[in-house]
Amino acid sequence: MTRLLLCTDLDRTLLPNGTQPESEQARELFSQLVARPEVTLVYVTGRDPMLIEEAFNEYTIPRPDYVIADVGASIYQLIHTKWQHWPKWDNHISRLWGAYCHADLKLLLQPIRELELQEESKQSAYKLSYYVSLQIPHELLLQNVTRIMAENDVNANLIWSIDEQKDIGLLDILPGNAGKREAIEFLMTQLGFNYDEVVFAGDSGNDISVMSSPVQAVLVANASEEVKQAARQQAEANGCVHQLYLAKGDFHGLNGNYSSGILEGVAHYMNQVESWLWSKT
Ligand SMILES: [Mg+2]
Repeated sequence: MTRLLLCTDLDRTLLPNGTQPESEQARELFSQLVARPEVTLVYVTGRDPMLIEEAFNEYTIPRPDYVIADVGASIYQLIHTKWQHWPKWDNHISRLWGAYCHADLKLLLQPIRELELQEESKQSAYKLSYYVSLQIPHELLLQNVTRIMAENDVNANLIWSIDEQKDIGLLDILPGNAGKREAIEFLMTQLGFNYDEVVFAGDSGNDISVMSSPVQAVLVANASEEVKQAARQQAEANGCVHQLYLAKGDFHGLNGNYSSGILEGVAHYMNQVESWLWSKT
């Protein structure tokens, strides 16, 4: 049987909370697609469970089977409305910070004054998050953080992205083997999916690691030119250009933004999708 593990980012990918317009029927079609028995739905987001619940209340989106939250620092299974935390993932990623915990890393980075700690609600056991002004050259700052981590034998994954609405940089520090891509691949292995049965959709900097990996990915049309270029370059460098699709729009009257782009991308990789959604028979 055809199977699909459909993984999607939320903000400005499935959720139409950007400046570009959303096609009218796109979210309804998305819901029809994920209601198919062949589809397992996963939300992959920087949000924590509370903010994801807020998205459920604010937008009409289907409840997923799994959630990769905190940019890949935690995995949950959703059974009806119950969130079940996956300790297997915590065990897998916990060793990479060595003897250090969240509070210890915070102390190590205290001397870097350009790092402004995010709110307590945005921190989690394996995610240390900072705001960074966009006036600061972030490459130098990331080098500085990397150096401090290396000097203390901490294996960390630094995830840089930009909140365009708030016009601020976001730095998330996770264990070296945690992140959106790593969590998707972990889930794939645990659930027994192959690469050709998985599609990921995203729009921003923290999605690029998946866009440039062997995971089949779609970049929605509302993504910025910088992200489109960076995703293309990274995919080329990693030899994964055939696993990256940029939504163009003009697909069954849909504009390629947000959930329209997800549908277009999934249809690019899986022929059946068009007949599932548009067949008159
Ligand atoms: Mg996003």
